[in-house]
Amino acid sequence: MIRDRSKLRWNGWGWIAQRDRLAAHDAFWTWLAQELGMPGLLATPPRPLEELVLPASRLTAGERAVLIALLGADRVREGAHERAFHARGRSYRDLLGLRAGDLDLVPDAVLYPRGQGEVLAVLMLANEAGIAVVPFGGGTGVAGATLADPCGFKSVLALDLTGMDRVIEIDTVGGTATLQAGISGMALEQALKARGATLGHYPQSFEFSTLGGWIAHRGAGQMLPRYGTAENWLLSARLATPRGLFSTEAVPASATGPRLSQLIVGSEGAFGVITDATVRIRSAPAFADYRGYLFRDFASGAAAIRTVMQNEIPAAMLVLSDAQETRFCRAFNALSDRQGWSDRLADARREFNGFDDAACALVTGFEGTRTEIRESVGRVAAIARRLGAIPLGRSPGERWRAGRFRTPGLRDSMLDRGVGIDTFETAASWSRLDALHASVCQALTAALRANALKPDADGIVLARIAHAYRDGASLEFSVIFPRRLDGEIEQWQAIKTAACDAIVAHGGTISHHHGIGTEHLRWMEMEKGALGLEVLRAIKQVFDPKGILNPGKLIPR
Ligand SMILES: Cc1cc2nc3c(=O)[nH]c(=O)nc-3n(C[C@H](O)[C@H](O)[C@H](O)COP(=O)(O)OP(=O)(O)OC[C@H]3O[C@@H](n4cnc5c(N)ncnc54)[C@H](O)[C@@H]3O)c2cc1C
Repeated sequence: MIRDRSKLRWNGWGWIAQRDRLAAHDAFWTWLAQELGMPGLLATPPRPLEELVLPASRLTAGERAVLIALLGADRVREGAHERAFHARGRSYRDLLGLRAGDLDLVPDAVLYPRGQGEVLAVLMLANEAGIAVVPFGGGTGVAGATLADPCGFKSVLALDLTGMDRVIEIDTVGGTATLQAGISGMALEQALKARGATLGHYPQSFEFSTLGGWIAHRGAGQMLPRYGTAENWLLSARLATPRGLFSTEAVPASATGPRLSQLIVGSEGAFGVITDATVRIRSAPAFADYRGYLFRDFASGAAAIRTVMQNEIPAAMLVLSDAQETRFCRAFNALSDRQGWSDRLADARREFNGFDDAACALVTGFEGTRTEIRESVGRVAAIARRLGAIPLGRSPGERWRAGRFRTPGLRDSMLDRGVGIDTFETAASWSRLDALHASVCQALTAALRANALKPDADGIVLARIAHAYRDGASLEFSVIFPRRLDGEIEQWQAIKTAACDAIVAHGGTISHHHGIGTEHLRWMEMEKGALGLEVLRAIKQVFDPKGILNPGKLIPR
């Protein structure tokens, strides 16, 4: 079934009908303005679509007629909301453009194919006619990877895969499921749950993102330590390309040279369109336990996570906020009526133990049988105790679980009030992590200051260990700052460049799970090397000789 885009915001997050959850929380907004050095928050609403004039579609009458004959009139859409919704993804840069009504780059039409045959036919046609094609899942990407840029082709089509959302097979004996790529996270998990199974991939964008997007972006869910990333759970996939169908191996293991499925993970729509995929599933966990700890500082919290991972304690989730983020979350909870008796108890224990502003909160999650969970929680509690942490009980964990898919809407609330917010992410080995954390925070603080609205209104930097492995972890950094309305893109670009330069200089990857798109292209050669890029270009040339697929993304030209 086609996802009804008309009910979704074309220039923000989620449902149009969804209200601003923080509208009535004046105390929070007053506090935030003070934190950011703003005399008061502003009213900076986005421009409504009705005010904007979109460029006329460049499709010829003949091309339109052929597409309609192929897909049906209802699946070839040229309405303003459809085209605007598919113009970009949902990065901060994208949101600035959409909210300002910058719709110079919009798809000429949005297509909703029903299956592999139709996708192949569209690609053949576009290849013949010299039309660019941008594969589009949920449109939740944050790296500029769905920007409708024709890059020199005469027009550009958005190929929305959400009409391809069928469950093809759930094989509980083999522990696999085969699904069409446009299925949303929610629908996928519901179908698996009905058979007692789960994929366990829960990105924060879960409600709106799709299986194809998760694979194409090499995504990571919040329960990565237990369920792995897309590269771990993808068994095989079918990729429609202008040269025909490419199917990859579907055996549990094989020594027939490099595994070709891995060419599809992270291909960002530049090699082909993932039409369906077979993924490794597991039994749905019977029980879950999410709880919090408070560490004296970031280093001891990070040491706890490393010890858990290196001792192979089967955690589902380990997220450590740094001191700034811990302080921000405490204030946020207190000022948005999310504080309960357990928070007050935690405050008392924190004071009793002499913890200061360097304290850092860790949320842990475990899933499985009662016995498994009891054993793991006990082992982690012992590690935390040895490292001097205070246990905070279940309430921080339950609060995290309840709110985990709701926070993306906050970006719109802030943008409406003259406040910018963006997140940068990376991963590095444990031995580099402390220095990387400090250096990126420092670079971001300096960039916020240098690009501030005015000297005392620069902004704040929050960071966290978001995903953990045996050999390292992924760090995420968020910045919240007063928007410089006279030069917003320049302000963002300077902050983004500072973060990315510091990440690369201190041994981090340019992206752990957001991908390359257009926004990380300039750091791609540093990460892959000249020869590495040549390999990627050669692969693209094989699948897509004319370069019509998602041009200008993933591989620098
Ligand atoms: C608030 C917020 C939180 C997020 N949290 C996470 C997180 O926790 N973990 C995470 O990994 N990511 C996260 N993201 C990023 C984003 O949601 C993911 O990258 C997601 O996997 C994108 O899926 P999508 O279906 O929306 O893809 P889209 O955004 O539509 O597309 C992303 C890329 O994949 C390509 N693509 C999509 N479908 C196909 C297909 N079928 N075949 C070929 N190419 C295709 C597109 O061309 C594009 O290059 C977050 C984003 C936001 C805004």
